[in-house]
Amino acid sequence: MRRKIVAGNWKMNKSVIDAQQLMYQLLEYKKNNPTQCEVWIAPPSLYLMMAKDLFEKNEIGAFAQDMSEHESGAYTGEISAEMLESIEADGSLIGHSERRQYHGETDSHCNRKIKLALDKGLTPIYCNGETLEQRKSGQHFEVVKNQTEVALFTLTAEEIKKVVIAYEPVWAIGTGETATPEQAQEIHAHIRNILAEKYGKEVADEVSILYGGSVKPDNAKEIFSQPDIDGGLIGGAALKLEDFSKIIEAFN
Ligand code: PEP
Repeated sequence: MRRKIVAGNWKMNKSVIDAQQLMYQLLEYKKNNPTQCEVWIAPPSLYLMMAKDLFEKNEIGAFAQDMSEHESGAYTGEISAEMLESIEADGSLIGHSERRQYHGETDSHCNRKIKLALDKGLTPIYCNGETLEQRKSGQHFEVVKNQTEVALFTLTAEEIKKVVIAYEPVWAIGTGETATPEQAQEIHAHIRNILAEKYGKEVADEVSILYGGSVKPDNAKEIFSQPDIDGGLIGGAALKLEDFSKIIEAFN
């Protein structure tokens, strides 16, 4: 059975007090509500140790939003896989479209980061997806195929099973515009086929593929009910327990 996951990407939001409050609320919620999926958050890295201290029993996964492609050394401002391992973080987002857009990240960078993460026992959440122009010109299948191959195809079958993929069409992130469940399913199935061609169907069937892009309480159930969609990576709607919990409950 593939892992079902709802992961919240907090991006660059919340003071330490507000972050702590939402972590407490989530923990309380998780204690009182058995969930049918794993619940993960990716707060700003500054708050990751606090999350790990609070989530003593690992009730909620704590992820970085990014990590360095280098092991250690003179890379000011960066956080390494080893540092994440040392605080027992669960993993890191890798290749989020905002990292690609504002920091020039490419799939080759993602490939190096994913390898480093796996070497340290961290779960990489590899994000990909096409831009609006690429979708409009019908290139979305090709773009996602290329992204997947460059970022992931140096991994072994055992390694790929440990990766979580988040398909996030760039035109749907933070825009309020969501891919229809059919559009999302089509690409998820496409990604799974790409993996199956390289690693075999059994391996491809074990990889969790999340959808991200304006998932909200009112569209989560329909999106998550698609056969190749194993959960969601949630941005805006992860910032309030009220919305995030309803998205988690879309699995019930
Ligand atoms: C994201 O940033 O990964 C995301 C999906 O954002 P939003 O849900 O706000 O579109």
